[in-house]
Amino acid sequence: MTAPVIGVLALQGDVREHLVALAAADAVARPVRRPEELAEADGLVIPGGESTTISKLAVLFGLMEPLRARVRAGMPVYGTCAGMIMLADKILDPRSGQETVGGIDMIVRRNAFGRQNESFEAAVEVKGISGDPVEGVFIRAPWVESVGASAEVLAEHGGHIVAVRQGNALATSFHPELTGDHRVHRLFTDMVRASRRGESL
Ligand code: GLN
Repeated sequence: MTAPVIGVLALQGDVREHLVALAAADAVARPVRRPEELAEADGLVIPGGESTTISKLAVLFGLMEPLRARVRAGMPVYGTCAGMIMLADKILDPRSGQETVGGIDMIVRRNAFGRQNESFEAAVEVKGISGDPVEGVFIRAPWVESVGASAEVLAEHGGHIVAVRQGNALATSFHPELTGDHRVHRLFTDMVRASRRGESL
């Protein structure tokens, strides 16, 4: 089978780093700014950045409803940091006009780990990733306050949930695209491959 096409939502944020990490994980990686580009993708990454900005631009670019429809239909999707916020069914402290795509039954608290100058790195054990812990880069990172019954917690840091999966939707508070360790992107690429075969991983 040919390599899966994985889009990176390219409205704002660290798009380029995800494109590089996905290519390293043997996917065909493409920026997505228009509904037609979304339609051509087998899976999608929503990058880190600023979730309010990404949300507003998604509405402006006519992508919010197509995104919700694809996620509802089971398209594999991976959100990092601001992307995690975009995948939350509920945000604890939304800014005015801030909407989410949803897809994961979780409540997320924005900027929970503190401000930009309180950003940090920590080793994180992630369920489903074998070998050494993942180096978690946390930049004004959210955490997950609580998850519903259908969401699985994949990692915690300091007693807070920082990685979650529900079906084909994956979210991390931290940024594996910044470390050169592509295991999380490989996990996601494997999820996309499985979904193309009509299976779930
Ligand atoms: N705090 C940012 C937000 O609310 C997320 C930060 C990030 O993606 N690195 O969107």
